[in-house]
Amino acid sequence: PMTNCLGEEGKGFIYLMSELPQERLSIAVSSMASTQKAFDETVAFCRDRIVFGKPLLDFQNTRFVLADIKTKLQVGWAHLDWALNRHYKKELTAEEGAAAKLWHTDLQWEVVDACLQLHGGAGYMNEYPIARMWRAARVTRIFGGTNEIMKELIGRGL
Ligand SMILES: Cc1cc2nc3c(=O)[nH]c(=O)nc-3n(C[C@H](O)[C@H](O)[C@H](O)COP(=O)(O)OP(=O)(O)OC[C@H]3O[C@@H](n4cnc5c(N)ncnc54)[C@H](O)[C@@H]3O)c2cc1C
Repeated sequence: PMTNCLGEEGKGFIYLMSELPQERLSIAVSSMASTQKAFDETVAFCRDRIVFGKPLLDFQNTRFVLADIKTKLQVGWAHLDWALNRHYKKELTAEEGAAAKLWHTDLQWEVVDACLQLHGGAGYMNEYPIARMWRAARVTRIFGGTNEIMKELIGRGL
């Protein structure tokens, strides 16, 4: 019945679209959390896994890959603090929400893939959380609007 109608009739999609920056920011937040978790799991794995007589973490390549990820995590968390602060103040623009979704989901995919690589064959086994995290990461560049569409939105605002 009309008494149950929320807002103005015919404006549903406009109302929905007005919440998209928040939805995209929430995707960025959960992607960042998954990225951090993948990193933490991988550091623990590399400490335990012995190859050529020493822990995987003792090899320079491993440390360089993980150091690079740790640096990006530091930058990523700082960016999310900035974006969340703007959201709380109702200042986050559609372009900024799109950029957050784009950057953090791209980062998630890059990091989770590198973390799986460091697991070797174990990364392909469900016994190791990274296998599922890798599968779950693939969709984040698609839902909430694909990352190509995020670039469209940012580009339109130039
Ligand atoms: C697991 C999952 C959960 C989802 N959950 C929800 C949900 O809860 N609510 C909801 O509303 N939707 C949801 N979706 C839908 C999701 O938002 C859409 O799948 C997504 O926006 C892409 O739309 P599409 O599938 O129609 O792909 P298409 O639009 O057909 O895109 C196909 C390809 O074309 C590219 N493309 C399309 N248009 C352009 C363009 N203008 N310029 C350049 N490239 C372009 C895309 O980037 C993509 O690579 C979900 C999807 C998945 C997979």
